[in-house]
Amino acid sequence: MAKTKHRLVKWEPTAIKEELLSKYPPKVARKRAKQILINEAQENETPEIQANVRTIPGIITMRGCTYAGCKGVILGPTRDIVNITHGPIGCGFYSWLTRRNQTDATAEGAENYMPYCFSTDMQDQDIIFGGEKKLEKAIQEAYDTFHPKAIAIFATCPVGLIGDDIHAVAKKMKEKFGDCNVFAFSCEGYKGVSQSAGHHIANNQIFKHVVGENDADKPGEYKINLLGEYNIGGDGFEIDRILKKCGISNIATFSGNSTYDQFASAHVADLNCVMCHRSINYVADMLETKFGIPWIKVNFIGAEATAKSLRKIAQYFGDKKLIEKVEAVIAEEMPLVDAVRDDVRTRTEGKTAMLFVGGSRAHHYQELFAEIGMKTLSAGYEFAHRDDYEGREVIPDLKVDADSRNIEEIEVNADPERYSPRKPAEEIAKLEAAGYKFKHYDGMIPEMDKGTIVIDDLNQYEAEKLVELLHPDIFCAGIKEKFSIQKLGVPMKQLHSYDSGGPYAGFSGAINFYKEIDRLVNSRVWSYMKAPWQENPELSATYVWE
Ligand code: SF4
Repeated sequence: MAKTKHRLVKWEPTAIKEELLSKYPPKVARKRAKQILINEAQENETPEIQANVRTIPGIITMRGCTYAGCKGVILGPTRDIVNITHGPIGCGFYSWLTRRNQTDATAEGAENYMPYCFSTDMQDQDIIFGGEKKLEKAIQEAYDTFHPKAIAIFATCPVGLIGDDIHAVAKKMKEKFGDCNVFAFSCEGYKGVSQSAGHHIANNQIFKHVVGENDADKPGEYKINLLGEYNIGGDGFEIDRILKKCGISNIATFSGNSTYDQFASAHVADLNCVMCHRSINYVADMLETKFGIPWIKVNFIGAEATAKSLRKIAQYFGDKKLIEKVEAVIAEEMPLVDAVRDDVRTRTEGKTAMLFVGGSRAHHYQELFAEIGMKTLSAGYEFAHRDDYEGREVIPDLKVDADSRNIEEIEVNADPERYSPRKPAEEIAKLEAAGYKFKHYDGMIPEMDKGTIVIDDLNQYEAEKLVELLHPDIFCAGIKEKFSIQKLGVPMKQLHSYDSGGPYAGFSGAINFYKEIDRLVNSRVWSYMKAPWQENPELSATYVWE
């Protein structure tokens, strides 16, 4: 601990920023300077950061491609849609579940295609003569083999370059089958600056082709949809356990542990609860415009945050029975959380963390670290936009650039038959007057301490430099960063796929997280990263006869 304090005194945030930029040629340094921000007090304003811009060529980014965001993040966790990657097998490899999305396919007759990897395996001749026939054959083969409810097609870079019309093929096959919804995503890897573009493309198509397909009412009280929860390491299972215990009915999760039918019925819910704002706020907005379902931001990462989110849901429905049940569940769950947290905190208090992950996770996980007394020194997102950093109120100021224009903005209007505001306007106004926030998301920057460093699209060099300068007790990012950071003698926790751990959401998840962080930051193994002769290179020896 004393060591960390010493380094912090030595390196002022401005000096750290200068040091990070000093390696770059002047033009690159000028660009990166706009994405590295020192969180300083400003009069009634949140400092502005540049985000969602192209990574400078040559820099080893942490980001993924648009296809990865569409196929991997959004559609990856859905079990009963056959997802075919149309492209060479190199991209196809990533259509094989690479995140630790979990699913419960134990129900009788449940279909689960998540363990499979479907690709058209395009060859040279397909690139030269076109790949539509091959795609058609692949869709037919998948249909004949599995008879799924739906088949989705994902375009990779070469498909966009040669101009295969995947939407026409999908339409033709859907009409041919009659009992299988076939739709396609123009999510070529180059379509946007990061995986964020893929999330947007995925959401647009799911909304266009699946949501609203099943009008049958769903049983249960207090119906919600959970948006932006991907069931990594079983997070979604823990959240569902808590919701069920409170008597809240989760109609559809987008998209952890989800099914085609859940998406098709999402429009019957009465409230949309948004976890990862970045990846899914588009769906929340479209569900409100078309069907009249309001949305709120929730966060089930952190025990306190979980309790707060449950109370927020209960307040929306305003039913005494639900409000009391939620309080009873919190009262039942918290004592164990408090006991573990208080014990762990004696060993973690004052330790430091860095988080560079996702478009909401770097924000959400700061809550869990704060619960065990750990301070976040520096954080940033891989694929966020300015509103994720500064808050949703900056959206009107965001410039639409050429990369954003690349992504189709679908026009959504109120459904003539099915639009129904879930609450009268007076009730919404009353809730708002009492401080209740709809369609609102606080950015990460205002919630971080002054003097912390916020960095967008951190790269390999900057990650290593930051660790070298500030020596945090733990660094959180993804698999690409894992081993280079560990080689520096700092524990690295993956917050994309949780290594082999989880769940970390909800009450049980918080307990798992406290224990795991305790193990990581207090393990002595990191002090053995350097061999004795590296620690102390001067060797002395004596001859045996001396
Ligand atoms: S960037 Fe293009 S070629 Fe690379 S994995 Fe993504 S879709 Fe495939």
